[in-house]
Amino acid sequence: MTATADLTPSTSPSPASPSPSAPAPVRATTAPPPALAARVRSTGSSPVRDILALTARPEVVSFAGGLPAPELFDSAGLAAAFAHALREEPRRALQYSPTDGDPLLRETLAGRLSGRGLPTSGDDLLVTTGSQQGLSLLATALLEPGDVVLVEEPCYLAALQVFSLAGARAVPVPGDADGLDPAALEEIVVREQPRLLYLVPSFQNPTGRTLPADRRAAVAEVAARHGLWVVEDDPYGELRFEGEPVPWISCYPGAEDRTVLLGSLSKTVAPGLRLGWLRAPGGLRRACVLAKQAADLHTSTVDQAAAARYLQVADLAGHLKRVREAYRERRDALVDGLGEALPEGSRWNRPEGGMFVWATLPAGFDTTAALPTVVRRDVAYVPGAPFFCGPPDVTSMRLSFVTHAPEEIREGLRRLGRGLAAVGG
Ligand code: PMP
Repeated sequence: MTATADLTPSTSPSPASPSPSAPAPVRATTAPPPALAARVRSTGSSPVRDILALTARPEVVSFAGGLPAPELFDSAGLAAAFAHALREEPRRALQYSPTDGDPLLRETLAGRLSGRGLPTSGDDLLVTTGSQQGLSLLATALLEPGDVVLVEEPCYLAALQVFSLAGARAVPVPGDADGLDPAALEEIVVREQPRLLYLVPSFQNPTGRTLPADRRAAVAEVAARHGLWVVEDDPYGELRFEGEPVPWISCYPGAEDRTVLLGSLSKTVAPGLRLGWLRAPGGLRRACVLAKQAADLHTSTVDQAAAARYLQVADLAGHLKRVREAYRERRDALVDGLGEALPEGSRWNRPEGGMFVWATLPAGFDTTAALPTVVRRDVAYVPGAPFFCGPPDVTSMRLSFVTHAPEEIREGLRRLGRGLAAVGG
């Protein structure tokens, strides 16, 4: 389509009476710029980020965003770490730096992974700008347009966005309250010939569920037998406030040469740092380094230096204990109040950690349609439907319990109850 624009300045003299000194009026034909790439046109904006924009009013009790409790950020410890980085080594901290990441930060992170049962050296890691960037780098390194990626149903939304932008086809693997079903996985692997399986095995976003050890072993075994990559995304594993930790899939036999573990400081320290890491077998890690060179050269040098200092000197164990205790109280406040707030016949889980509870309302409710009525009462949740790859469960919703203190949670639940009662089933 060609558009014609009249570029004549509004102050130009009329052509009938030209001024001898003024330039002649210009009439130009212009064409619109080319359309956006198809991959962008076919990928929607994240409904979670859109809802976050709607609920930014301070009076809203938001169960929507996965926003860590801001009053628990160790701002004094981080201020000291940034001051140290800038005072002691400003020339290094403010300079360009290697794409792989700050060597001290990588060593420190590797030590923490080894301490949690996965022997790791700094050379196994690539520092990323949030674990979200790890997902994008993996898509660049591993996916051709049209490739199949297997995902949990429901699945972390921004991962679906990454796969969609890569032109991949996300295929859901069914599961139950414990997560993905390994028998169904094997069947779908044989049928779809996927390149990779993406999953969040601990305190999953959006459901809060955790994959038991025997299923993790089975996932590693299926991946080894059929030859596919496993991307194990674990931003929430350290937020366990009850029960026993379950080993990473990366720890099981068969997983060594095909599992990528993504980690993040977002939920344990602060999301604004935008610091994550990727642990991958050598060839794939090098491919991700290449992709990162093109994406952003490297993650912020000063942020990495401050984080390395913070992890070395701060009492992270004490900080995590405080966060876990607060989150357990908040989980209890939310879960114990859901019986009153949700319509009769609703169901929900009680996760042993993380940030999210998943609830399902009785048939007849549509949580997407109900949201505007509920938000008018100054409370918000995320409807479950956008997290589904296949036919969505429109009665489902994700509720985050971490952002508000228990008393605010109880007030939010009273508002939610009134809002849902007004909507009806
Ligand atoms: N993976 C999952 C499952 C998440 O829930 C999130 C954040 N909500 C991320 C990755 C991205 O986290 P970040 O980039 O802050 O590390």
